[in-house]
Amino acid sequence: MPRKTKIVATISDLHCQHDFLTALHRAGMDVVRLNTAHMTHDSAMKVITAVRGISNKIAILLDTKGPEIRTCVADQPLKVSYEDRVRIMGDPLGQCAGDIICVSHKDFVRDIPVGSSVLIDDGDVALTVTDKDDVFLHCSVENDGVIQGKKSVNIPSVHVKLPALSRKDKDFIRFAAEQNLDFIAHSFVRNKEDVLAVQKILDEKQSRIKIIAKIENREGVDNLDEILDVAYGVMIARGDLAVEIPAEKIPLIQKKMIKTCINRHRPVIVATQMLHSMIHSPRPTRAEVSDVANACLDHADALMLSGETANGRYPLEAVQTMARIAEEVEADRVSFLDTPYLLENKVTAYLAKSAVKASMRLNTRAIVADSISGQTILAIAAYRGDNPIYAQIYDEQIMRVMGLSFGVFPDFIERQDFNTDPIRKTIRRLVDEGKFEPGDLITVLAGHFGCEHGASYIEISTAGSMVPRVC
Ligand code: PGA
Ligand code: MN
Repeated sequence: MPRKTKIVATISDLHCQHDFLTALHRAGMDVVRLNTAHMTHDSAMKVITAVRGISNKIAILLDTKGPEIRTCVADQPLKVSYEDRVRIMGDPLGQCAGDIICVSHKDFVRDIPVGSSVLIDDGDVALTVTDKDDVFLHCSVENDGVIQGKKSVNIPSVHVKLPALSRKDKDFIRFAAEQNLDFIAHSFVRNKEDVLAVQKILDEKQSRIKIIAKIENREGVDNLDEILDVAYGVMIARGDLAVEIPAEKIPLIQKKMIKTCINRHRPVIVATQMLHSMIHSPRPTRAEVSDVANACLDHADALMLSGETANGRYPLEAVQTMARIAEEVEADRVSFLDTPYLLENKVTAYLAKSAVKASMRLNTRAIVADSISGQTILAIAAYRGDNPIYAQIYDEQIMRVMGLSFGVFPDFIERQDFNTDPIRKTIRRLVDEGKFEPGDLITVLAGHFGCEHGASYIEISTAGSMVPRVC
């Protein structure tokens, strides 16, 4: 049985040689992520070309910077101790020096109230705002540490009035559209307007790229429902989320968010520090193994690797480890979720659920279904059944997009005239590829009226009996 939980791996232009990416793909990398916070268009292009040289099935996800705040450049790192006093100034072009920390948001002093915590570098150094004047926030230092330039700045539970999109992000979204990439993962999505700002640029470019909303603060968590009205899927970006919200709340937030996404038939990625120690070590910690297994038990569509594959010492081992953990969990768990119907076509909606149930009761080997938009496939995946879903998709980009979803193994097939049944030819090909044997029982979900009308029947039979006979 193939692994059904998908793996998203972050790839840097400094480590994107053909052989390396081929090895990662073989080990289980399904989707490549470009983290543009650290990239130029040229460096992104280098990775895109390398990925496209390997397979047309690997989806590419471009991650934006989003409305984030960072410390400005610093000549020297600022060493601080508990109870030291420092001042923060909002000046995107400033430089950190002496006791003054410059940050990239110019209205920082106006937006941040006295009493707030300011967390620098994923919370490594905590400051408390004790006072402010027109120019500075006056802060006391809560722990010993070092404040460096270009590090993240989080202010838990404070709404900072930053625009959803920086200039760099806008340029990168246009670039993604021009390069026909598959997903934009937009950082720090707070509400549906943040998603719509990205969609507007994509519409101007007539692009069909899907938007993944990265949920990384309290507002994003609270507004998940309206965000899902306009975004395709979600990334639970636990790196920033666990700094913005008390870390002990993250496991249950993760469970609730995954459940919401599954109920709405949307893919959900669990991200950040899943195998963090493997950046330096060939073996993960037991806590990390449990974290990966837990995300699988939550039925996430995909798990993400960041530094582990972008610049770690053991990238291949990290992908292999993640794949092994997922396979172990998938082999031994209850696998049917009673997800609500959502498809507008009631017949297809009902059949999708029936197909998954039948595949379990009758112990079939696979579900084969075709789709134009992918909606039917997402509906089948939402039940989280046992059978791999061999999705036959009539559009190359939608095919790649489907590859992010739980248990979906997509192929691109040509649209022919619908009198010849494309599904039957497909089954012969899948048998030839060794996906199942002629004697295996399989479930087919398809339509007599052409795939644009949705599925209208289920056929359960051996693969051999469905293959067109050669006379
Ligand atoms: P980042 O997003 O790696 O772009 O910060 C992921 C996260 O915050 O978890
Ligand atoms: Mn983040």
